[in-house]
Amino acid sequence: MSQKILVIEDEPTLARLLSYNLTQEGYETQVVDHGSDGLQAAMQQQFDLIVLDIMLPGMNGFEILSKLRQKGNKTPVIILTARNAEDEVVQGLKFGADDYITKPFGVAELLARVSAVLRRTMSEEQLQEKGGSGEKVITVGELSIYPEKYEVVLHGESIPLRPKEFEVLLYLVQRPGVVVTRDDLMNIVWGFDYIGGQRTVDVHVSSLRKKLEMNQQSVQIESIRGVGYKLVTHQLKKS
Ligand code: CA
Repeated sequence: MSQKILVIEDEPTLARLLSYNLTQEGYETQVVDHGSDGLQAAMQQQFDLIVLDIMLPGMNGFEILSKLRQKGNKTPVIILTARNAEDEVVQGLKFGADDYITKPFGVAELLARVSAVLRRTMSEEQLQEKGGSGEKVITVGELSIYPEKYEVVLHGESIPLRPKEFEVLLYLVQRPGVVVTRDDLMNIVWGFDYIGGQRTVDVHVSSLRKKLEMNQQSVQIESIRGVGYKLVTHQLKKS
């Protein structure tokens, strides 16, 4: 049975984008474009997750969230916050949000966050069922990569990557400890006809590296000067 997601968002383009991508990913979605209608839907029906905008007509996202939690509703909530609005994030988490996404966001990030929150909140039993469904996963040390979902988990935490960063990582992970040249990455990830130069590869690797190393440095991308890159995990280093 597919998981049900309630999207409370009044901006039609964004609501459509959310609904389209979540549906493509196999979730059942319901969109509500008004605050109090959203609260009502969340209280009356059973959802696995709520994606909640903050600025809404009728009732804002914080009010919705705090009313839900006051009434004992524990449905996981991801809030959508404006860019550079740290206070929104802080307030949202205080009111009981499980995660947040800053606008504007990419589809890969959205899906990664949704999947991570759902996985965190799923019961053991459901997790086992999911594991039995033959979902593809590549594991190197503490790093797990789900190629079908463009999802990366390091030390149990989902790491939001841009699609090209993900593709670079996927290529490196399939060759742990092996030096991969910039040319290879360029051709595999961007395609032979890409007119961008190797600087593009370096920029993506550098940003990918920062995201991975934020988390305890157990997975590192080493630069091999003048050649390319190599993925190293602590387990590999020891051996
Ligand atoms: Ca809005």
